Amino acid sequence: MTDLYRLLPEEMESLVIELGQPRYRADQILYSLYYKFPENISEIKQLPAAFRDTLRDKGYTIGSTKEVHRITSKDRETTKLLLKLQDETPIESVLMQYPSKKLFGHPRSTICVSTQVGCAMGCVFCATGQMGFERNMKAEEIVGQVIHFAKILAEKDQHITNIVFMGMGEPLANYQETILAIRLLTHPRGFGIGQRNITISTIGIISGIEQLAEENLQIGLAISLHAPNDKLRKWLVPTAGANSVMELIKAGQRYFLKTGRRVTFEYALIEGVNDSIEIAEELAFLLRNNGSHVNLIPINPTAGDFERPKRKNVIEFERILYNSGINCTVRVEKGTEISAACGQLRTDVLDKYNNKRN
Ligand code: SAH
Ligand code: SF4
Repeated sequence: MTDLYRLLPEEMESLVIELGQPRYRADQILYSLYYKFPENISEIKQLPAAFRDTLRDKGYTIGSTKEVHRITSKDRETTKLLLKLQDETPIESVLMQYPSKKLFGHPRSTICVSTQVGCAMGCVFCATGQMGFERNMKAEEIVGQVIHFAKILAEKDQHITNIVFMGMGEPLANYQETILAIRLLTHPRGFGIGQRNITISTIGIISGIEQLAEENLQIGLAISLHAPNDKLRKWLVPTAGANSVMELIKAGQRYFLKTGRRVTFEYALIEGVNDSIEIAEELAFLLRNNGSHVNLIPINPTAGDFERPKRKNVIEFERILYNSGINCTVRVEKGTEISAACGQLRTDVLDKYNNKRN
């Protein structure tokens, strides 16, 4: 079985020609996939029925993800989808909308996608990390998450403006499928979103960052640092190498030099763990003159005994970085009441969903 969402436009052309059809059939399929969002091959109405049968006979399908459940936050700005993969595995993806003046009344609509079921990196504060690793997602399963939201938004005459790879899993540990998904999503004859509107977040797999820099892509990179020294980082990210902090800073610099895209360092702030003034000063010293951006993420208490930091500590932490000339933002909380924060996907919604059904 091959999902049509897995094929790049050039491969779609080769396929239709191989099956004895004119080249323009590929465009008909692509138009349908990326503008009409069909749920199965029968819904590609532009194709002759006989050709649809041939595609099915040859083992082509559509729909490696099915919507099972949808939750929208009270302010309607966050929507979480519980999707089921073909092997019945449940996963989650989130849409976050922000009002925007630039987009002529349309909101900025960011989709947070997952790349793995579970995660092997074991970060102690992350619900996905505590779940363990189940399996990698296929490119069509990653694309499928985007397509479901594109369909929901199209019904409201809206569209996806940004995609962040910050859901479940470590994208660079599923490198090939993640890159294929990005190529499908950014291809002008595919989904066609701008490369600059995509950000990959990584826990910091150095070889993956190096490889990504060579892909000739203009995507943004966010590196999850979480600590200014190796001892603390190794505790929070047990799979990190012995010298991960400096290695990550250097890898970020090389990515910037190669791609011209500024790197963001993500820093999950945890009460009493990595949110003190001393640690903020250590981080500020580490990142001074680095030109990078820091995104502070007050954690959602989802795993272990970790607590969200006090508001005054977050402000103080931000001020210390800011005073050292470091560009810094605090992640806006969105959809907490529906547990839609990245890094806590699936677990809660499954519980709620199951409770509702029982
Ligand atoms: N594996 C990648 C991408 C997925 S995690 C990475 O770690 O970067 C995406 C983001 O969610 C990371 O920045 C991570 O720090 C954050 N995250 C994980 N657990 C969280 C929690 N409990 N609360 C808030 N953010 C969390
Ligand atoms: Fe995996 Fe990212 Fe969670 Fe760490 S924070 S366990 S790398 S998903």
